[in-house]
Amino acid sequence: MNNFSTGRNIIGIPRALSYYGNYPFYYGFFKALGINIILSDKTTTKIINEGVEKVVSDTCLPIKVFVGHVLNLLEKGCDKIFVPSLQSSSYKINNCSKIRGLPEIIRNVIDKPFKMIEPTIDKTEGISFKDFCFDIAHEYNIYNKDLINSAIKSGWVVYDNFLKMTNSGVNYETALQNAIEGKILNPQMEIVRPLSVVIMAHGYNLFDERISMRLLKKLEKMGVKAYTSLNVTKENALDSIKQLGEIQYWANELDLTGTAAYYMLNNKVDGIIALSAFGCGPDSLMVDEIQYHAKEYNMPMIHLTIDEHTGEAGFVTRLEAFVDMLLRNKRKALEINNPPKTLPPVIKKERVLTKV
Ligand code: SF4
Repeated sequence: MNNFSTGRNIIGIPRALSYYGNYPFYYGFFKALGINIILSDKTTTKIINEGVEKVVSDTCLPIKVFVGHVLNLLEKGCDKIFVPSLQSSSYKINNCSKIRGLPEIIRNVIDKPFKMIEPTIDKTEGISFKDFCFDIAHEYNIYNKDLINSAIKSGWVVYDNFLKMTNSGVNYETALQNAIEGKILNPQMEIVRPLSVVIMAHGYNLFDERISMRLLKKLEKMGVKAYTSLNVTKENALDSIKQLGEIQYWANELDLTGTAAYYMLNNKVDGIIALSAFGCGPDSLMVDEIQYHAKEYNMPMIHLTIDEHTGEAGFVTRLEAFVDMLLRNKRKALEINNPPKTLPPVIKKERVLTKV
């Protein structure tokens, strides 16, 4: 057991699920409360396999990965682990049952002793984000309201800086690193690429490079610009869902339906890539919804599903075929709009022969 990982003022955060959306806030908040964060390692095959062994096979990959990360923190000797209970993010805007029941899943599948920090947010039931933060602080015997409120503000500062950067095009890793170092990068010059796509996916599937099989890097190598939920403001995503005549039901809907809808409605991309975990109920509904509208807007779309058995070769083949098809579509559209220039007809002048 590592000494640094135990004690009153530490918290282990699994690098999975809500980590990908909320870590900038957690970083600022815990730091201001004087609580040291221990992160689990980046996802590896070992972490996935250990999670897979603990839960029933039809559980989705992200939950298996979360379990693997909790085990990784326990291996590091961390005895307090953050397992939030995220029920609803707004009134009747719910998370899926697995995210809602996450503390129960962990309690039932991990039989090692540790303290679970399991605050609840449930706006449908009137449990606010502020209540969630106060619950966490109370677990550490911190009851000073001014201190907790000021820690919440510090969390928002880091989070807002992170969002400012991602909204202006800075990539996930760079924005996260700079935000936790208290820096903001200036908006970057957008690199113009021959093709662009929007990816509809949960952050925990897309930004975990092991789960997404480095999808973003693969697209970059193929010369494809990829837009993600981090490039769209929440207001624009919500507005786009409404413009399609749909309603937001799931908590993560802005990252999926809203993001895809925004780029499709504004005609900013050549295609849509949906990336989701095999067997995910909410994602299958959201992907179906966007597939239906993509047909209306004549927007090519591919749905890539992932689980612990997904082979990289098949994944890449499907991706390359889709990108090839987008390229052919684009060439065809360019040819129709700019037909090859025809030379003006040659006018033959008759020679007048004059007799000498
Ligand atoms: S939304 Fe889908 S992928 Fe995410 S935890 Fe729930 S079932 Fe799993």
